[in-house]
Amino acid sequence: MNNKNIDYGKIKNNLQNYIEPNIYYCCQCGKCSAGCPAVDLYDFKPHQVISLIQSNRIDEIVNSSAIWLCLECDICSNRCPENISIAAIMNYLRVSTWQKNTKKVKNISIFYKLFVRIVQFFGRSYEPGLILGLNIGTGRFLNDFDIAVDILKKRKIKVLPEFVKGRKKISKATKKYL
Ligand code: SF4
Ligand code: SF4
Repeated sequence: MNNKNIDYGKIKNNLQNYIEPNIYYCCQCGKCSAGCPAVDLYDFKPHQVISLIQSNRIDEIVNSSAIWLCLECDICSNRCPENISIAAIMNYLRVSTWQKNTKKVKNISIFYKLFVRIVQFFGRSYEPGLILGLNIGTGRFLNDFDIAVDILKKRKIKVLPEFVKGRKKISKATKKYL
């Protein structure tokens, strides 16, 4: 599947009508980017993401690392003088485009899909399954294997999965993320 299948018009419509109607009040002051702890890893800083949306260049954001590396810490939103929820925008862009497997961030989208599926099944995260699935999905079978052995020896994570009570409800609630 390539990016031609993404309906950018619909994404923009949803962003400005439902996710963050204040998006056009952005004055490009840069306060969001100045406070972002992940900004050095981004190819587009948070204020640039907003600017690209305003100028109908959402395709460039979908192919960027910014939306995938956002920690959703909400510092940007709290610093914004126009009360724009940048974290919600980042999250919406991620959720609405992850299945397109954009080339640059393919491994991140594999992680995302796997994580949501595991939470749907067990009702919570299951780290060994996540690590194994990610290594298989990315073709890097022994990636971080030495670290995983150490972590297991120190009993930092459980080998067997736990099933959370009421996981059907969790599964239903997470459907919108896939
Ligand atoms: S802090 Fe708010 S107004 Fe300033 S650049 Fe960021 S989104 Fe725009
Ligand atoms: S929510 Fe994302 S973009 Fe905003 S400050 Fe945190 S990491 Fe940066």
